Amino acid sequence: MLETTIAGLRRALGAVRSEGKSVGFVPTMGYLHAGHLSLVDAAKRECDVVIVSLFVNPLQFAPNEDLARYPRDLERDLAMLARTRTDIVFAPSVEEMYPEPMATVVSLPELSATLEGKTRPTHFQGVATVVLKLLQIVQPDRIYFGQKDGQQVAVVRRMVRDLSVPVEVRVAPTLRDEDGLALSSRHVYLRPEDRPAALRLFQALQAGRSLLEGGERSPLLVEQEMTRVLAADPAVRIDYAAAVDAGTLARKDVLEGRVMLAVAAFVGATRLIDNLVLDVTPPSS
Ligand code: AMP
Repeated sequence: MLETTIAGLRRALGAVRSEGKSVGFVPTMGYLHAGHLSLVDAAKRECDVVIVSLFVNPLQFAPNEDLARYPRDLERDLAMLARTRTDIVFAPSVEEMYPEPMATVVSLPELSATLEGKTRPTHFQGVATVVLKLLQIVQPDRIYFGQKDGQQVAVVRRMVRDLSVPVEVRVAPTLRDEDGLALSSRHVYLRPEDRPAALRLFQALQAGRSLLEGGERSPLLVEQEMTRVLAADPAVRIDYAAAVDAGTLARKDVLEGRVMLAVAAFVGATRLIDNLVLDVTPPSS
């Protein structure tokens, strides 16, 4: 079932709730790939009814970013979702979501300023604002995100905790192609000859992981190693290579606990991100 209005979706959800069914919600910006569909599968395993939203959220794009050329294809997305166990697709227009300029924002300044935030300072305010708005509209029991966007996961988890939002945040592993490249809607921008450079991101993360597995606990040395792997390909323009606490995203003196290795780089005109979250034991004395 396709709903394009907030009122229509609320009517459909009212019927679902009166039957006592649990609701799982998968927010996306569309142009779906198998990574998105893995979130739908996870939601269907845990919930009676699955809602998928398709909405390219202007609030999370800065004026110099790719909002206008972000890939969109509603027919294709609906056909893909029809082959899944999605119950309701919510595909509102920008006017439906934002009939007037937003006077309200949700902002998590500390979590938003680092990593992606260094080059995209307004991005996570846009993400947090639309996710809270969608949560108010859908009021799901569980909301599903991919680990692929690791900083987004940290931001949403913290917002839900801080604001006591009554939803369970569920996170699915990053789905990768066979060669390790994390699936992304932005891959449509990549030319075939860009692929080896794009693969450097996962290779850098793997190199960081093997250092950690070998006992290295210095963030600096792990970051240097990831940078070295990225820089070995001149077609990669590095944005960052970081080893941080997976929850607070803060730089640590010593890597232990839940650590996120995160990289971002341009390959041609395409900006790619990837990360790994690892449970790191304290250094042996
Ligand atoms: P997007 O449409 O890019 O906003 O992504 C919608 C959701 O799908 C987000 O929670 C993403 O983290 C998730 N996602 C995107 N790519 C992948 C992937 N390769 N594996 C798992 N989840 C993903």
